[in-house]
Order: sequence, then C-alpha cells, then structure tokens
Amino acid sequence: TPRVFSGMQPTGSLHLGNYLGAMVNWIKMQETHECIYCVVDLHAITVWQDPAELRNAIRQVTAAYIAAGLDPKKSILFNQSQVSAHAELAWVFNCVSRLGWLNRMTQFKEKAGKDREQASVGLYAYPNLMAADILAYRATHVPVGEDQKQHLELARDIAQKFNNDFSASIIAEGFADGIFFPQPEPVITGAATRVMSLRDGSKKMSKSDPSDLSRINMTDDADTIAKKIQKAKTDPEPLPSEEGGFSGRPEAENLIGIYATLVDKPVDAVLAEFGGQQFSAFKKVLADALVAKIEPIANEIKRLTGDPAEIDRILADGSSRAREIATPIMGKVKDIVGFIRS
Ligand code: ATP
Ligand code: MG
Repeated sequence: TPRVFSGMQPTGSLHLGNYLGAMVNWIKMQETHECIYCVVDLHAITVWQDPAELRNAIRQVTAAYIAAGLDPKKSILFNQSQVSAHAELAWVFNCVSRLGWLNRMTQFKEKAGKDREQASVGLYAYPNLMAADILAYRATHVPVGEDQKQHLELARDIAQKFNNDFSASIIAEGFADGIFFPQPEPVITGAATRVMSLRDGSKKMSKSDPSDLSRINMTDDADTIAKKIQKAKTDPEPLPSEEGGFSGRPEAENLIGIYATLVDKPVDAVLAEFGGQQFSAFKKVLADALVAKIEPIANEIKRLTGDPAEIDRILADGSSRAREIATPIMGKVKDIVGFIRS
C-alpha cells in the first residue's frame, strides 16, 4: 500500500520555497494517502545548532506544519529524534551505502563549502539518514522540492543494494520475492519546485541563507513581505510577454513563477497580463498575493507557538504512532542483517 513520508529541518522558520515546493503537495496527499511528516532534528545538527534555538525551531516548524494545513489527526506529525529507528537504520545504511555514491552529492559540496575537512561526518552521511527516514516506514512516495531529487535517487540505490546484499536472508524471513524495501518515488510537482533566492536568481531560497532579505518566511508580516518584494533583485528590462523571454533572466522567471503558483494560473496567462510592463506594478500585485496567502498562516503560527506544551503533546502523540510503524520494520531489518534480539 502507498505510504507518504517527508520532512523539513528545524534550521530556521519555514519559507515560501518549503511551502510551494513541498508542503502544498503534503497537504494535498493527506487527503488520499497515509502520511508521515517529520521535523528532522537529527538532520539539523549536521550543522551546529544552539540547543535553545533548536528546541524553539522544532516547535516553530511543527506549528507551521499545522498552520499551513496539516492535520495531526489525519497525518502523523512528529520529530525525528523521538523515534530511534531513524538513527538505527541510518547506521545499517552507512554500511550499505558507498563512499563513491556520497562523493557525488551536490548538497554536501555546497553546504561544506571550501573547508571540506571541517565539515561534520554527519553532513557527509546526511543522505544515508534521509534514506533511513523514508525506509524505516517502507514509504513509497516522498513529496520534496527539486533540490532533494539527487538524495531520493540515492535512497532508491540504497534500498536496492540492501535488497541485493541480503536477498537470501530476506527470502528466508518470508519475503518470497526477495524485496524488503520498496523503491521510494519522488513527488516533485507544481510550478514552484525550485523557488530561488530573492537576492540571487542562481541560488535556491534557503532557511540557512544568512540574508533574511533572500526569502519570504511563513512568519513574515505584511510590511516585511512588501519590503522584501520591493527590494527583490530584478533587471532593467520590462517583463517578457512569453516564457521564451526568460532566458538569462532568472529573477524575472522566479517572481513570475511564484505569482503563477499563488494565484493558480499558468505562467503564459500571467505573462499575457503583465508582459511589457515594468517590474514595479507587478511587484505590488505579487506582494498583495503573498500577503493574502501568508498572513493567515503567520497569525496561526503565532497562536500555536503561544502554547508550547500543546505542541510537545502533538509531537509525543505523533512519535508514538510513528514508533508503532517503524519498530517492527526495524526489528525485521535486524533479523535480516543477522543480529540477535530478545
Ligand atoms: P536548509 O538551508 O537548512 O537546508 P532548506 O530551506 O533547504 O533549509 P530543508 O528543510 O532542507 O529546507 O528542506 C525541506 C523541504 O523543502 C525539502 O522538500 C526541500 O526540497 C524543499 N525546499 C527547500 N528549499 C526549497 C526551494 N527553494 N524551493 C522549493 N523547495 C524547496
Ligand atoms: Mg535544505
């Protein structure tokens, strides 16, 4: 049966890229699938986090999930570190995955920067933990932004290699076809699967970008949104009239793409309306559309974070439901690998 898993890092408050690139699909899928949505705190510490800020960010991200439309009764919402199967399966996958595979990962190269010797081992092994997150539930569908495509391909390779390495044992454990882990499928759909930075059209919008002007946070108020859009980088040309006109103009393409997604119109329809005009008029319309979408979510985040005990209770409930699924799967993994458990 299909099962959905995805997560976000509590490395800051969520932004428009997280929302349009991934969360919109999460919300849709909870109507049709069994869904497990995680706040991936183990991933967050691959880069040092201040403990008090980390705790705060875990609650903020949980609140943002709920405020954006995830229902903790319909879906399982929890934080990763409360379910030990993630870390346990990640260790097994550290021993299945290959150095050569990890060496190809572009996110590590970007996040490690020039001084790679000083990057944490966890940052390097991040994709193995991500594979464990998904496969600890034997999840089949993973809604993510475009930047996670490469990690998803690695998760598929790990699933396949585990099935191959242990095929005899898997069959002996009663899986006649020799397949224990499914091949998880990426779900990367919509017009904004890669929202770019407002300051640099060649970089994706990120929580960890030091410039707050580079992103629209889901907690920004109307004035902040208007100011950020007004300051967003553009070029001196008027807006193009057709999609071919975006070549060499990533900032224009990004802003139009965001607007098209927000108002749920095709890009060419938006260009038919604004093509030939200056950015200034369009930016006002864009800022209004953003405020209309984000302001109610921001207000709800604020309300929810006012009661941290309630958020912790939701996470505790989600964690115990997550453990019910993951613990028996992890038990089978131990049997397959040849560990003794009592
Ligand atoms: P960090 O900078 O700490 O890595 P992030 O902004 O990249 O933070 P993640 O928690 O790593 O956010 O990713 C959560 C989800 O949001 C993933 O599915 C990812 O693909 C998606 N995502 C992140 N940034 C964007 C973006 N700019 N456009 C579309 N999707 C995005
Ligand atoms: Mg990221």
